Amino acid sequence: MSVTVREASADQAEFLADLIARGLLIETGVPGVYGHNAAFEDVREALAARLTAEAGLRGAQRLRFPPLLPRRQLESSGYLSSFPHLAGTVYAFDGDERQAREQAECAAAHGDWSEHQEMTALALMPAACYPVYPAIAAQGPLPEGGTFVDAGGAWVFRHEPSHDPARRQIFHQHELVRIGEPEGVLEWRDEWAQRGLDVLRALGLDAELDVANDPFFGRRGRMLQANQRSERLKLELLVQIAGPEPTACASFNHHREHFGGTYGIELADGGVAHTACLGFGHERIVLALLHTHGLDPDRWPDAVHAELGADAAR
Ligand code: ZN
Repeated sequence: MSVTVREASADQAEFLADLIARGLLIETGVPGVYGHNAAFEDVREALAARLTAEAGLRGAQRLRFPPLLPRRQLESSGYLSSFPHLAGTVYAFDGDERQAREQAECAAAHGDWSEHQEMTALALMPAACYPVYPAIAAQGPLPEGGTFVDAGGAWVFRHEPSHDPARRQIFHQHELVRIGEPEGVLEWRDEWAQRGLDVLRALGLDAELDVANDPFFGRRGRMLQANQRSERLKLELLVQIAGPEPTACASFNHHREHFGGTYGIELADGGVAHTACLGFGHERIVLALLHTHGLDPDRWPDAVHAELGADAAR
């Protein structure tokens, strides 16, 4: 299979080269898959702690899931009709000794050994909120007022290889999820869009809130995109990293009854729950900080360090 790798602008290519030269990113040989050094991780972990503290202060329950999704959940979520081009599935070997030898020989020559691989019950996590919905549904009807979950900064996979350092195939998406009555959920989404904007601006980032759409697949996808925009279902926080376009560093999504209906999440009064989720891209925010304040975090303004180290204040 030949996969198209998205080209980077000159700006993005230069920023990537600088990040690698500094050791902040560690190359793996595959575009969009990088390791991080301690300086990068210190900032990312401080950011994660800050977001978790903000959520905890407002009553979020912390749930954590591994970066693998049961394939059945991916299948029932609708992801494969909306984003077939981004999904990743886990395959494994299930053959005899002769087939194992053939596979090993083919693999040693870097050939195509996919004929020896079978689908497993697992897929790579496409969005960190996906395991939250069935988990909450399994708890039975929601309490009055619904629930708020902090799913943390979980690894998620998107198959979109690119030379832009801000477009990863695997990255940490910090998801906060609200499940409850329709009005409360929409209010929460809008309130957190403003809070997200405040947090990024307090870190010295020139962030803007805008209406956005997901990269839905195909012709039907263009219709879904237009609908998503006209109904303001998706908002994004945009920050200029390496140009030309600003990069979405967080998104705020209103799913209405999609997940509530799919997984049977019941309100206290028996109705179908509405849901909304927020996803903060850890790596993109760290890159925005590095691009704005310089590649040496030790030399960032004191105010930025104070914000990163601060407990949730607002
Ligand atoms: Zn989500």
